[in-house]
Amino acid sequence: MAWNRPILTDSGGFQVFSLKRKSIKEEGAEFTTPKGKKILLSPESSIGIQQNLGSDIMMAFDECIPYPATEKYTKNSIDRTHRWLKRCIDAWTNPKQSLFGIVQGSTYDHYRKECVEEVCQHDLPGYAIGGVSVGEGPEWMEKIVSYTAPLMPKDKPRYVMGVGNPEDLLMIWENGVDMSDCIIPTKFARGGTVFTNRGKIRINHQNYRRDFFPLEPNCSCYTCTNFTRSYVKHLFDSNEILGAILVTTHNIAWYVDLSRRARQAILEDRFLEFKKEFLEEYSGSNKK
Ligand SMILES: [Zn+2]
Repeated sequence: MAWNRPILTDSGGFQVFSLKRKSIKEEGAEFTTPKGKKILLSPESSIGIQQNLGSDIMMAFDECIPYPATEKYTKNSIDRTHRWLKRCIDAWTNPKQSLFGIVQGSTYDHYRKECVEEVCQHDLPGYAIGGVSVGEGPEWMEKIVSYTAPLMPKDKPRYVMGVGNPEDLLMIWENGVDMSDCIIPTKFARGGTVFTNRGKIRINHQNYRRDFFPLEPNCSCYTCTNFTRSYVKHLFDSNEILGAILVTTHNIAWYVDLSRRARQAILEDRFLEFKKEFLEEYSGSNKK
């Protein structure tokens, strides 16, 4: 990739479980490729692949429990995930690469707690909350994160997987979470959705045909310092791939800037104030 910066890789667990044709066994998860070839992804092969990729942060191979899940399903799944975690740790040979454990437990507080105890008894470089952002909705997500994050060690990175929306990021940060990942900034960009401080805008809307402002007036990213909304809309109208590239560049810069502002607010002990102000401005013109 020619990317001389940190690389985080997922274990493949989430990706396998999102497939239709798969079976979960004690050895690992078996799935069929589009060409009909059967592949078994195990804790050992997942860690082997992640080590070979030169990943800096590798994720343990787990089952991302779908929502909703019964208590019985959840219990069977987390017990297996914990056995898999031990196998991941045994397969992990390069201490320069960090292995993070993943706390599952679906929507059940007692299982989330059990998972924290089980996963965090292993002295790992960081810990994640998995199994959110799987269709449970923002209220459940907040319930799970606000219950689980405070139970996890504060001196290690706490990572919520697959989040998200700016509103959800502010929620997880408020609960002490340090890291997250999401496809939203780039996936939305490819469809022409631009994140701004005054909410999301759809750049292909007629409103922007003769709008000669940048995507976000005070943004210092490459896109905003060089191009107008009108031009970016023109690129989308013409199916020119540069449009998607320019909006992607802006959206990522906007997310990085949002986290920078939040970090500053935390250091100055005014995070809740920052959150309120941000959400007021962000939601105010969401309909634009
Ligand atoms: Zn920008």
